[in-house]
This record gives sequence, structure tokens and C-alpha cells, in this order.
Amino acid sequence: MHFYNSMTRSKESLVPIEAGHVKLYTCGPTVYNFAHIGNFRAYTFEDVLRRTLLYNGCRVTQVMNLTDVDDKTIRGATAAGVPLKTFTAPYVQAFFADLKTLNIQPAEVYPAATDHVPEMLALVEKLFARGLAYKSDDGSVYFSVAKLPGYGKLSHLDRDQLRAGTRVAQDEYEKESYGDFAVWKSWDAHDGDVFWDSPWGRGRPGWHLECSAMAMKYLGETFDLHTGGIDNLFPHHENEIAQAEGATGKPFVNLWMHCAHLRVNGEKMSKSLGNFFTLRDLLGTGWSGREIRYVLINGHYRQPLNFTFDALDAARSSLARIDECVDALTVLAGQTASGALPAWAVLGRQAFEAAINDDLNVPEAFAALFALVRESNSAMHQSALTPEHAAAVLAVFDALDGVFGLIRFGRALGAGMPPEIEALVQARAAARANKDFAGSDRLRDELAAKGWEVRDSKEGQKVKRL
Ligand code: AMP
Ligand code: ZN
Repeated sequence: MHFYNSMTRSKESLVPIEAGHVKLYTCGPTVYNFAHIGNFRAYTFEDVLRRTLLYNGCRVTQVMNLTDVDDKTIRGATAAGVPLKTFTAPYVQAFFADLKTLNIQPAEVYPAATDHVPEMLALVEKLFARGLAYKSDDGSVYFSVAKLPGYGKLSHLDRDQLRAGTRVAQDEYEKESYGDFAVWKSWDAHDGDVFWDSPWGRGRPGWHLECSAMAMKYLGETFDLHTGGIDNLFPHHENEIAQAEGATGKPFVNLWMHCAHLRVNGEKMSKSLGNFFTLRDLLGTGWSGREIRYVLINGHYRQPLNFTFDALDAARSSLARIDECVDALTVLAGQTASGALPAWAVLGRQAFEAAINDDLNVPEAFAALFALVRESNSAMHQSALTPEHAAAVLAVFDALDGVFGLIRFGRALGAGMPPEIEALVQARAAARANKDFAGSDRLRDELAAKGWEVRDSKEGQKVKRL
């Protein structure tokens, strides 16, 4: 597997520190609102990455944090007049529901920032011990970027632009205002009852500190992969590196991956443009999680993705093509054990693997999937596919689906057929193979009585719910 490392700006081979076990940190949601589909572009990209690692036989330990204390969550809780936990809890719940809707595999650990304040305080202590942190007049603790020689290496900052002594208190800021950033923010009236006691007085952690502390707690001081959306690169990830490497003196992460932004109808998604969608907005207009997932993963993660309703329409018909092919293969295979794989399917699987292992080239991987659909249809059309072949080809679709998470998603085997219906369809296939047409017709009537229509075609039986 080769991935583009944002730090070195080149494709590198992934060599896990522990052979066969990849440790992955993926920046998670700030739970002050429902996640929007731009966020889900990042989470589906990370899901495809995780699934690709698994496809290649790696064990994966993925950590995704929940940012449940930061500038935005405190602002939201204050505006709503409720305690912080009461404010964030429904968004945490909604987030997990949304992951299921999009068939995103769960991470191994979802640490919440508010549960890890002691680890964060210990990290700040280390920064003080190494002369990298100082307390400012306002009582907050800042990281002194000029004291860390490597600061700026991820975002390729021009260190000459640093004006000594400038400080930024906010969690989010632009490259232009880079300076010392807050690792611990002293309490003020806006924070209400949100504070923890620390050796530097009452306060709360900075957002960047949260991720450094939780990543190292669960994955070790140096681990394999760290990802997020491109907006996380600076300052968030740059500051995560500074805190971790400043405290340990060891490299923090071996490979950084960032996905480009999602745009909607060619424009930046924003509330003022009226093109701002949560997953729930789209489900409410009749699109399925499966269709939305299709659109979100169908692009190269390093290219901006343009989200349109035409793309959702196209996803719907592409999925129907896949379903029809997989259903026909399922009917043909029946209960037969898998046999030899036709040469075109071997090539198709290889093309898929070459694509996905080359920096997650999902568009090429889809091309390989559709080549398999085409070849399967044409082989069935020419009656050149035995049930043994069909079973083997189906196993390839299933293997690829380990990465796509689309083919079996939300569908029982063969168009959501209950086992009883599947058994009748297979009995009918056997009857037809034995030229028992009376039996075949009887089975067709029985299926119709149960609400399923069977149509015979050159590719075999096509079954659908009436
Ligand atoms: P946040 O909740 O703002 O911390 O963001 C959670 C994740 O979504 C981060 O990895 C962000 O980089 C990512 N993200 C935010 N907006 C977009 C967008 N429009 N396109 C892609 N990823 C995004
Ligand atoms: Zn983070």
C-alpha cells in the first residue's frame, strides 16, 4: 500500500511500526451540531482507508476523538443555557446513528475529551519541564512555537513570518496569524461552569492538546497514520505535532493523510448560500444512506468532491446495475460451492487491488468493479458461466465490498430476498435445469402468491418484489 504523505508531499509505502498492525488516529467531530455532509466526506474517506488496511490483511486500531469541550461547544451550551454535557450528548448520539446510516465501520476507541483532562494536564506539565510552555498574564498557558525547531514542518510554514511573542487564544485561526497557541485556557465568565482545576488555575484544555493527549494514550508516542480534512492540517495537526514531539522528543506520526473539501453544486458549503446539508436533510428528501455513501466515496480523496443531486441520481442507477448483476449471479450460483474464477474476474480483482492500494484510487477501483459487472453480465448472457463460476465471481464482489461497503449494504442476499423466497427461486432454477417446466410454473405461481415476481431472461431468473 502506498499513500500520499502530506508531510513529505510524496507517496510512501506504509510500513506499520508493529508488523501487520496499523495504528490510526482520525480527528472526530466537534459535537456542537449535527455533522454536515462535508464532515462525512472526511469520515467516509477514513472508512475507505480503514477498510483498505483490513482488505490487505492488517489489524487496525483506529481512534476517533469526540471533541466535547472547545470554543464551539461552550458557546453552544451557553447559548442554550444548559450544562455542557447536556448540550453535547444528543449530537454524540446523532453522530453514531449517522455513522450507521452511512455504513461507516466503528473505530476501536471513541475517547471524549472531557474524560481525558488528567492526561492533558500531564502533557502540559511535560511541556513546562522542557521549556516549551509558559503562563501568560491572562492565566492561560501557551506553547512557545519559536522554541521548537521543527514547528511548521507539516504545513510548510515560513518561520520568518513568525512575529515573536504573538499569541492566539482561539482554537481555530489562519496561517497568517500563526504564533504561540493556547494549550490551557484560563476560565473566564463565558465558560460558565465549564472548568477543571489545574496547577495553573481553573481552566480548560485547548482543542489541539486534546488530540495529542488522546492519540498518545491509545496509540503510543509514535504511531503509523493520522488523518483529517485538509482544514485540520493547520493549525490543528501542526499543533498536535508540536505538543507531542515537544513533550516526548520522538516523532509523533509516520504518515499524514488529508482529504480535500466537499463542495456542493460547485460552491463552498455554507449556511448563507443555502447549500448546507446534514445527512438528515438528505435522508428527509428521500435519498438513502447507501446512495449518499456512494457519492461521498466516489472520487479521489485528495481532489475536491462536488456533491450534486445529479450525482445522487447517478448513484441510484449505478447501484441498480450492480444489484441486478449480483442478484442474477446469486440465483445462478444457488447453493453451489465456489469453483475456479474466470480469467476476467482474476484480472478485475487485480485491477481493483492495484487501484485501491495506490493512494486509495477509488475512481479506478469503481472502474474495476463495473468492468466485473459488465463481464459477468456478458458471460451470463452467453450462458458461459456455470453455477461454480458464478459463486466464485460473487465471492470476488464480496471481497471488493469489504472496501466499498455498498454492495451488500442494506440488502439481504439477492435483492432483500427472505431465505424462504431464495429457496423457492433456487428450486425453480433446478426445475428449469431438469426441463421440469410444470414444476417451474408451479414455483413461479407460489412465488407470486408470496409477493415476488420472477422473470426469465438470458442471464437467468430475475426476481423482484411485486
Ligand atoms: P469538525 O467537527 O469541524 O472538527 O470537523 C470534523 C472533520 O470534518 C474534520 O476532519 C474536518 O477536517 C472535516 N471537514 C469539515 N468540513 C469539511 C468539508 N467541507 N469537506 C471535507 N471535510 C470536512
Ligand atoms: Zn484532532
